[in-house]
Amino acid sequence: MNQKKSLRNCPICQEENGEIIHTQNFVLPEGHPLSNGYDILCCDRCGFVYADTTVSQKDYDIFYTKLSKYEDKKTATGGGESPYDAARIQKTAECIAEFLPDKSVRILDIGCANGGLLGYLKKLGYNNLCGLDPSPICAETTKQKYDIETYTGSMFELPHSLGVFDVIILSHVLEHIQDVSTALTNLKDILDKNGILYAEVPDAKRYLNFYVSPFHYFDTEHINHFSLKFLEKLLMLANFTIIGRGEKEFELHSGTIYPAIWVMARLLNRKIPLNLDLDSELCNNIIKYLKHSEEYLDTQAIDELVLNCEKIIVWGIGSSTMRLLANSSLSQANIIAFVDSNPKYWGEYLMDKPIISPEELKKKTETILITSKIYGQEILTQIINELNLKNKVVSA
Ligand SMILES: [Zn+2]
Repeated sequence: MNQKKSLRNCPICQEENGEIIHTQNFVLPEGHPLSNGYDILCCDRCGFVYADTTVSQKDYDIFYTKLSKYEDKKTATGGGESPYDAARIQKTAECIAEFLPDKSVRILDIGCANGGLLGYLKKLGYNNLCGLDPSPICAETTKQKYDIETYTGSMFELPHSLGVFDVIILSHVLEHIQDVSTALTNLKDILDKNGILYAEVPDAKRYLNFYVSPFHYFDTEHINHFSLKFLEKLLMLANFTIIGRGEKEFELHSGTIYPAIWVMARLLNRKIPLNLDLDSELCNNIIKYLKHSEEYLDTQAIDELVLNCEKIIVWGIGSSTMRLLANSSLSQANIIAFVDSNPKYWGEYLMDKPIISPEELKKKTETILITSKIYGQEILTQIINELNLKNKVVSA
């Protein structure tokens, strides 16, 4: 047993002691505001699983304001640009609509990204919609594309003119929040006294059932790992009563299914008695997922590149590359550059190597290493069919 006093108390019960079930490291681009590693803790008191990160809420706010990947219209989720994202958003909007027969209710989507969900709710007839996103570009895109009132801000910086809402949506937001209790306290300031909250997060209890690649579900952004029971407990502790709940799965990308859970809750003006005794089911399932990840960590392709001192260009500086640089021999490879589709990173450095655009690859002849399991096939198609490159390509 590897116990520690946490840097960040349990987001559910505020207990400060937990058991380290995994340590996840990352190698990040220079100047990146997030953490290059953390322990994953299982709370001693309630059994919740969370990343014991040293990164403050303020630094996360800076990250989502300045480095948001949700701005990208082609690759980001939340805008409904890809058919997979559009299908996911449609289902979420229909699920929410079942609880809201009155189309004039005032609805706020916090973390609205490029406005896909709001756009679909508008299509369903809701006429009092509002979006909030830390990225000014996302807020502007939502306003322009769907003609919906939008604001730049977050649960920690609520615009003064926002007003009060009948319904607040937190779709894939709570797993990103460092200071969950302050977020929920602030949220209640802008929710009607009998208002409704829709919260959806990844289902950490089912990470193993929807295994993608080793440690895939541990990245720099997802720092709270909920099961349905813990999501309900969090909201009940904030004086909400649960009026709907469910498990769901959606296709994130061709062939990659993502498990999620959702809760519809109504704000009450009184405390609800709640049992916070140890619930080990979530932690036990995550430990099984971690064991599976260790067992299937196959770095043979990377080891061969290192052994041959082959000059390589690594495609993508996202989570899979960040993890492999920390967990495998990739950092010892003869890397000459990294490629990323996000223009925000072009001209920056990772491990002293330049981050270049896909277009710049046309001047390079080195082997390209693809680290992403989910987007691997799409990247390969882009390399061969769009960029017409003849470089050797290796998949990690
Ligand atoms: Zn706890």
